[in-house]
Formats: sequence, C-alpha cells, structure tokens
Amino acid sequence: MKTLYVNPRNGPKVSEEERFTAKYIITRNGCWLWVGGGAKRFEPRFWVSPVMVPAIRWSYAHYIGDIPIGENIYQTCDNKLCVNPDHFCSMKPIYPMLTDEEIRNRKLEAI
Ligand SMILES: [Zn+2]
Repeated sequence: MKTLYVNPRNGPKVSEEERFTAKYIITRNGCWLWVGGGAKRFEPRFWVSPVMVPAIRWSYAHYIGDIPIGENIYQTCDNKLCVNPDHFCSMKPIYPMLTDEEIRNRKLEAI
C-alpha cells in the first residue's frame, strides 16, 4: 500500500534564499516587512543552520556583499522590520562616539 506521508527530510531541498523570501511581505513603500522569527520583538532573525542570525545581516551579506569589519547595518527607512537591502547602509556604530549623557538623552527621546 502506498503512503501519502512524505518525510520532509526526503523532500526537495529549499534554498536559504527561498526560505528568506517566504518570510517577508513587500509594503507599498518598498520595505520588505519581516514576518518571520523575532518580528514580534522587532529583531528579525533568520535560521542558518546551525545558528540564528540577524535577518538584516543575512540580507546584506547575501544581496550586497561582505559586511565591513566593525560596521553595523542600519535601515535608512527607519523600519526595524525591513530586510530590503536597498534600504540598508553600513557604518560604524555611532554609540561608542557618544558621551554617556548623549546616550541617556537618546533613550529618553525613544520613550
Ligand atoms: Zn525599508
């Protein structure tokens, strides 16, 4: 007798990019809005066996290229869930250049 059950391990291999593109929706302003892991905490995460990586770093490395050492990726559209590489810029973290007081003020502004 034939079984309908197919072990997913024996199914067709899905590429990382295919898995990635299934985890965002494109908004009207062109943002790729992450709806996968970490979306509720505004920390898009993507599983790249055997680790979880920040989805924006994966997107940058995959679509643009290596992330310069010591630099972080920021969304120019200010959308924390956006994983569209066209909306990214990479630069050195700004916080180490700020004084403690400036950091405190930034936190207060964010509240
Ligand atoms: Zn965006």
